[in-house]
Amino acid sequence: MEYLRTDYHVHPDYSIDAAPVKIREYCEKALELDIKEICFTTHVELDPARRDMDNFVYLNGEKVSAFNYVWLDNYFEEIARAQDEFEHGDLKVKAGIEIGYNQGCEIHVEYIVNNYPFDFVMGAIHCLDHIAISSMKESPRYFQNKSLKELRDEYFTILMEMVKTGFFDCVAHVDLYIRYGIRVYGSDIFTVHRGAVEPVFEEMARRRMGLEINTSSRHRGLEEFHPTEEILDLAVKSGIEVYTVGSDAHSLDILGCYIDEALKILKERNLRNHVYTRRKATPF
Ligand SMILES: [Zn+2]
Ligand SMILES: [Zn+2]
Repeated sequence: MEYLRTDYHVHPDYSIDAAPVKIREYCEKALELDIKEICFTTHVELDPARRDMDNFVYLNGEKVSAFNYVWLDNYFEEIARAQDEFEHGDLKVKAGIEIGYNQGCEIHVEYIVNNYPFDFVMGAIHCLDHIAISSMKESPRYFQNKSLKELRDEYFTILMEMVKTGFFDCVAHVDLYIRYGIRVYGSDIFTVHRGAVEPVFEEMARRRMGLEINTSSRHRGLEEFHPTEEILDLAVKSGIEVYTVGSDAHSLDILGCYIDEALKILKERNLRNHVYTRRKATPF
């Protein structure tokens, strides 16, 4: 079976940490790379405790509150224009979002996912204790003050809560804590999931949620993708059948990177890559 290229994790210029690259430019590059379907996943963090740091998006080059939903109208219009322009060619364009989950954000997430016609809603844990563990600068403040057991308890507890909200179609980079955790905990970080991730995967399987293979780890000096193959095998064993692949591109040069390798990992396990239309997954 042929595994066609998709990139289901792309940050256009709305994300505050992304390069000023327009949706249209990503689509052109996707055509060049023979990517058949691209899903934009602008990143929002809705933790009120980090309001002054994170709760923003860029709209036409200006920083606006992520709670000012005018940006979403603009985002959907821009995606619709790209759909018109590129779908006669060979590229399908989808509207997605990556939402950083934390306790207290549910009311905002509910509003966003119920009021906009997303194809794909991805959930991610970027923060623990209101500290961004995804950030090189901030993460030592969390990791250096927590034992591995505390990290494990806190991360997998919040991950399970996120899954059980029912708001999300798919979990992004499920072992993101490895990215900078490895600097503090060393190789023990690679086994911390054992016994903790399985119940989460079983819950995801019951809900037919997807799991993302995120290739961004490779640019950051890690040998494996998110998740590692050991964790992926636990997902398979737990019954998860829906997988997506994403580069987590924040700039044009990263689009599609290592996607072929991610597809190979799926193929080796007889798993199918998936795409989403209006929140419904289909094998691709
Ligand atoms: Zn993320
Ligand atoms: Zn991302």
